[in-house]
Amino acid sequence: MMLVEKERKIPVLASVDVCVLGGGTTGVMAAIRAARMGASVLIVEQQGNFGGNGTSGMVCAWHTLLDFDFDQKIISGLSEEFLKRLDKRHALRVVPHDRPSYKSRMERISTYIFNPQELKIECDEMLKEAGVVCCLHTMFCAPWAEDGELKAVLVESKNGRQAVRADFFIDATGDGDLAYRLDIPFREREGKQPSTTGAVVTGYEEIENPRQVLLEHLEEYGLPILGWDTTYVNSPKVSHLLKSNVFESPLTMEGLTRGEIEGRRQVRAMQEILNKYGNTGEDVVLLGLSSSLGIREGRSMRGLYTLTGDDVCNGRKFPDAIANCSYPIDIHHADKPGCTFWYLNGMSEYERDGYPHEISWWKEKSDDYPRYYQIPYRSIVPREYKNLLVCGRAMDADVRAFGAIRVMINLNQTGEAAGVAAALCVSGKTENDGLDTDLLREKLAEGGSIVL
Ligand SMILES: Cc1cc2nc3c(=O)[nH]c(=O)nc-3n(C[C@H](O)[C@H](O)[C@H](O)COP(=O)(O)OP(=O)(O)OC[C@H]3O[C@@H](n4cnc5c(N)ncnc54)[C@H](O)[C@@H]3O)c2cc1C
Repeated sequence: MMLVEKERKIPVLASVDVCVLGGGTTGVMAAIRAARMGASVLIVEQQGNFGGNGTSGMVCAWHTLLDFDFDQKIISGLSEEFLKRLDKRHALRVVPHDRPSYKSRMERISTYIFNPQELKIECDEMLKEAGVVCCLHTMFCAPWAEDGELKAVLVESKNGRQAVRADFFIDATGDGDLAYRLDIPFREREGKQPSTTGAVVTGYEEIENPRQVLLEHLEEYGLPILGWDTTYVNSPKVSHLLKSNVFESPLTMEGLTRGEIEGRRQVRAMQEILNKYGNTGEDVVLLGLSSSLGIREGRSMRGLYTLTGDDVCNGRKFPDAIANCSYPIDIHHADKPGCTFWYLNGMSEYERDGYPHEISWWKEKSDDYPRYYQIPYRSIVPREYKNLLVCGRAMDADVRAFGAIRVMINLNQTGEAAGVAAALCVSGKTENDGLDTDLLREKLAEGGSIVL
């Protein structure tokens, strides 16, 4: 059955230069950079806080800002500004890369562990300082295009339905919701990486080998393979558990509903295993759950250029590069426990809880390997609309490349570039595919990004 919605007048909430949809770290950085370039900017976020997976999803780790050899800094910009601010709040743990005790290279590159609650407040503060108009608890629901031109977006909030008019739009919803509604072609990658409900608990660190305890009882409690955990910044008795794995689609209401409920069930199941078999005499106490399922992978837009696994593995450099990255390709296995990481030097590391990691080589061992790879501007540019960029998780990348670019220190850079590009397009009255990318890179560098 279908209902027909009656025609109605929609009040215009605001008219701005740049409208950013989605306030994950990518969207926040896009908004701040556009505003710092002098554009009037409004950001729309469906949740009650900014930061996306990094806050609502409790994903509390950023990787190294250095190249593969830890010789050259390749990432700075807003990621580094945020890290410095978190450090000032004692909300950051910096893990040096050269401790001899490391069991894996992944431990060496997981450099920054932060307090996601503090990141929420830093996002608020930095958006405010940049003069961005913030709309929380506001959901993008439909585009408003006239004669093939995107003029406005419709949003829903406690105010009801309203429109935001803008000269330029940035889709940072992670799932490319705006681009999808505009019928821009997408690929849904096969073997999507799972979603995760994050949890914060006490009592985990008291158990002698909690990972092994969990592994021994997965089947009994209907649990799939498990993800990672770490101790909370400045609270060694509190742990982050990012261990649940949910394989429901994050692209439908039904999938998200089942996913949220299943993720929480898994957290409780883990708690019960630990309480029953952990033998400490103390309960594992659940202090908090992520306010939203952490989503690793949704849609991938087909833009002007698809970044490929080969580009990543070969450390390809682009004249229109907007991001430098050294994070490996990571493969979250759906059919067996653990993750496999493909590093730039050809090393492959298979890691799973409770077992020594296994090293092999995905290409012949040699000293001649790239130290970093890049993301081109073209991978955030859709063909169909000239005043739109799609950054963050939904940018154009194949399944292998996505396994590498998907971490925040990489995607943050796509947000920063989208913000600067949008402001330049508005001030220069330029279309997204006509932008002078040398100028974009120059402005990115002026704003603190490392441009190589
Ligand atoms: C469990 C897990 C572990 C991970 N581990 C790491 C790690 O260790 N290190 C790392 O760097 N990365 C990690 N990642 C990946 C990383 O967190 C994400 O790829 C990254 O945060 C994506 O950022 P984003 O801003 O593009 O998207 P998101 O963080 O998903 O942000 C999108 C935002 O848009 C909002 N939104 C969506 N639709 C709408 C709409 N229609 N209207 C309004 N708002 C909307 C959402 O609420 C959200 O705030 C992990 C991810 C998960 C889930």
